[in-house]
Amino acid sequence: KKPPARKGSMADVPKELLEQLEELESVFHVSADQLKAVTKHFISELNKGLSKEGGNIPMIPGWVVDYPTGKESGDYLAIDLGGTNLRVVLVKLGGDRTFDTTQSKYKIPEGMRTTQDPDELFGFIADSLKEFVEEIFPEGVSKPLPLGFTFSFPASQSKINSGVLQRWTKGFDIPNVEGHDVVPMLQKQLEARKIPINVVALINDTTGTLVASLYTDADAKMGVIFGTGINGAYYENVADIPKLEGKLADDIPKDSPMAINCEYGSFDNEHVVLPRNKYDIKIDEDSPRPGQQAFEKMSSGYYLGELVRLALIDLHDKGFILKGQDMTKLNTPYIMDTSYPARIEEDPFENLEDTDALLQKDLGISTTVQERKLIRRLCELVGIRAARLAVCGIAAIFQKRGYKSGHAACDGSVYKLYPGFQQHAAEALRDIFDWTPAPIDQYPIILSPSEDGSGAGAAIIAAVTEKRLAAGKS
Ligand code: BGC
Ligand code: MG
Repeated sequence: KKPPARKGSMADVPKELLEQLEELESVFHVSADQLKAVTKHFISELNKGLSKEGGNIPMIPGWVVDYPTGKESGDYLAIDLGGTNLRVVLVKLGGDRTFDTTQSKYKIPEGMRTTQDPDELFGFIADSLKEFVEEIFPEGVSKPLPLGFTFSFPASQSKINSGVLQRWTKGFDIPNVEGHDVVPMLQKQLEARKIPINVVALINDTTGTLVASLYTDADAKMGVIFGTGINGAYYENVADIPKLEGKLADDIPKDSPMAINCEYGSFDNEHVVLPRNKYDIKIDEDSPRPGQQAFEKMSSGYYLGELVRLALIDLHDKGFILKGQDMTKLNTPYIMDTSYPARIEEDPFENLEDTDALLQKDLGISTTVQERKLIRRLCELVGIRAARLAVCGIAAIFQKRGYKSGHAACDGSVYKLYPGFQQHAAEALRDIFDWTPAPIDQYPIILSPSEDGSGAGAAIIAAVTEKRLAAGKS
């Protein structure tokens, strides 16, 4: 999507509001020099994550030690848990770099993200799978269906069909899952319902995106998610992963590739280089996991609307905007998801009439045109900052691996839907690498749209895994 043209003039906005805006501009602006500094620190943190001592960024080996050949074939189930919906997909791999998918989406019930009982979450997944399988295979199946489980959270993997959740992210907060392998938790619920499914691989969404994209695009160097959360995956050389020394089975050669789920949403949890402002600090302090996912909290979709909300409340408390309005709804944490700033930025009207209607209807507040202009600019500032910071992970990996050009295959709601995101992200890469300005599809690093990572990607990985196992490999 193209960035929306800046609408309306600010000429009628009173000086005291303009001064507030200037303050917001300064706390949300990230300069080219800052981006370069962030990228530089990022590279050293990525390397630390691969070292024996480890660091902030988990750099989790994903046990995908092959590139897809394109010849993978067969029927696979795939599920995707981690965003707003649970997605269930049947993938038919064609054996010739093609695939067909049939999918259903199941809305994650209200409250499920923070249920006290993990069986409720895994039971819900199993119920959804049951419904899906019974619909697609009304006659039943002759042998258990292999399933690739895209679990979009940091999960340590000692092998491909296991994943111990390190910590929940993106507002999920369910007890007794952190520190446990989630594969048996799901398998138990499947068995309780007698559903003939075998979980053969646990996959991060970024790894799925990387593999699915490589299936059709030889230039894909990374799989990246700009969505509810933020993260990237790439192939590292096994020999360059010191922390794997002594942990590799003999049948994995030293020159093998290994997909790494970076989990770089946790970059700079130590707060060394990210330009955090008071709203960032508040988001972190009020979150279920303070001190975690520092980078993600400034740049991913889960937090964009909340940043806008916190800034609005601040300006209201200081007496600048929304005087005399009922703030009950706006005072509710996370009431504005990313679709709010996105819709406000897309408002086509000079006087922001769509925004007016949206704020009245959903939040019960009336605004003046001047206030709406300020709100709209605030949304742009938050969106632009997210895009600029978000690409530092990509810049760091390309630099670290010595890739001068290539594609970062991208997926996620923010990448796909947030107005101007792709443009601002590309411009930030240009700032980091000092490229000459050009149309964004002509830069050396292109943020290309990915293939279906959590469908095709999970299926391809499941297929590759089955083939290894059938060959007696680990
Ligand atoms: C999770 C990652 C995931 C990313 C994008 C983050 O919160 O920790 O595992 O890849 O969100 O979905
Ligand atoms: Mg997702």
